[in-house]
Amino acid sequence: MNIEKITAAIRDIPDFPQPGIVFKDIAPVLSDPDVFRASVDLFVERHKEAALDKIAVIEARGFLFGAAVAYQLGVGIALVRKKGKLPFTTVEATYDLEYGSAAVEMHTDAVAAGERVLLLDDLLATGGTAVAAAGLIEDLGATVVEVDFLIELSFLDGREKLKGYEVFAPVVY
Ligand code: AMP
Repeated sequence: MNIEKITAAIRDIPDFPQPGIVFKDIAPVLSDPDVFRASVDLFVERHKEAALDKIAVIEARGFLFGAAVAYQLGVGIALVRKKGKLPFTTVEATYDLEYGSAAVEMHTDAVAAGERVLLLDDLLATGGTAVAAAGLIEDLGATVVEVDFLIELSFLDGREKLKGYEVFAPVVY
């Protein structure tokens, strides 16, 4: 029931940010307090017994859901940001885009060795961003307990790229 409510709130924007891409706009999910709460609660319910240490959140929409889940679960937040945004010493991973490449960074003390970390973003497309972020968490010695998204675009096979990780995404296209 909640998943239907969340799905109904996700807005398709054709040809954004470029022709041929259907952008899944989650702004209406955020603007409706019941739908936002239902979205956050899916992750909270799933992980309340998981003994997580941190939630690693991917810039920028992952921050919104991840912060609420972390607050509710009483666990810390680790930031995954686009290259050049983080002020302290960082580790960096580069990944391929359709044209060119991109890089994400984390602070070297964002997660500690042995910590149990949930990685969370709003949407799984090709999986490139999430694989790069998961690699950083592991490089820092922590364990990726699961990789979660609100939305999965299954036709892009991001799950294949994330094989070896548990993946959870309640809304699948
Ligand atoms: P990827 O690395 O290909 O899995 O891309 C994932 C990132 O790009 C996520 O942070 C998404 O927010 C964003 N993204 C990719 N495709 C879409 C889309 N069709 N609609 C909304 N966001 C998208």
